[in-house]
Amino acid sequence: MSDVQTCSLCPRLCRHACPVSVGTGREAATPTAIAGVLVDHARGQVSDELARQAATLCVDCGACQDACHLHQPLPAMLREARDVLLSPSPEPDLPAVPAGVSVLLLIAQSADSLRPTAQVPSDAHVVVCPDRLGVDHDFGSSPALGAVLAAFTGLELYTMDGGIFDVLHRAGLEPKWALDVPPTSVGSCVCALGERPPLACCGARGPLREHHPESAVHLAQAFARRLAPGSVLLDTRCAQHLRNSGCAVDPHGVARQGETA
Ligand code: SF4
Ligand code: SF4
Repeated sequence: MSDVQTCSLCPRLCRHACPVSVGTGREAATPTAIAGVLVDHARGQVSDELARQAATLCVDCGACQDACHLHQPLPAMLREARDVLLSPSPEPDLPAVPAGVSVLLLIAQSADSLRPTAQVPSDAHVVVCPDRLGVDHDFGSSPALGAVLAAFTGLELYTMDGGIFDVLHRAGLEPKWALDVPPTSVGSCVCALGERPPLACCGARGPLREHHPESAVHLAQAFARRLAPGSVLLDTRCAQHLRNSGCAVDPHGVARQGETA
């Protein structure tokens, strides 16, 4: 039996962990239901469009796999399905690295109000990555990640942006986190730091926001209501998405609990 079939027959054991399933309350958004559509699609019983709708009800957070007693690789299976069902993502806009540079601090914007920790070497070369290495696109298992790997292999990498960290990590690199933010004040991007987010996802990640914008707004509003006062949003994606969803976010990315703009 294939892995995706196993998920399609599962009594929804990981649904409580999936932020899309919980945040939307939609039965169709449970990992089991999504897998069921993909199995039916492979049998020719549902359209490509229905399969696309199902495979994009995901923020690619990995929580289902973590919660699964079988450790089923459902996130990777959904990525592979999206590779087939969606058009390829554009190549990321990669910054040029001057010759002789060995340490990079990658930031999202030049006016970033956050300051890196003292652990970042003083000779680190700062590069601005306006599209955050293309994180807003759903890479799936795309070769674009190979371009990121090739561009930065051999360099010591630091970043203060969860989205940039996310892309570097997914490309197989080992970026270092350049902020010393107490975990209790982290409101976002912990998915990108390899810890399971206590607040799940705000809906900014993965293909959800582009393909299911209304569901992504529901996730953002639920996320903002659960944020502790003064939480720091460490991922520019999240700050923008929360702001676009009507939630109160300061210009430097600090959300205020429960408020809406
Ligand atoms: S990942 Fe595990 S718990 Fe989730 S649907 Fe698949 S088999 Fe079930
Ligand atoms: S990767 Fe995350 S969003 Fe996608 S199905 Fe699994 S738990 Fe849900």
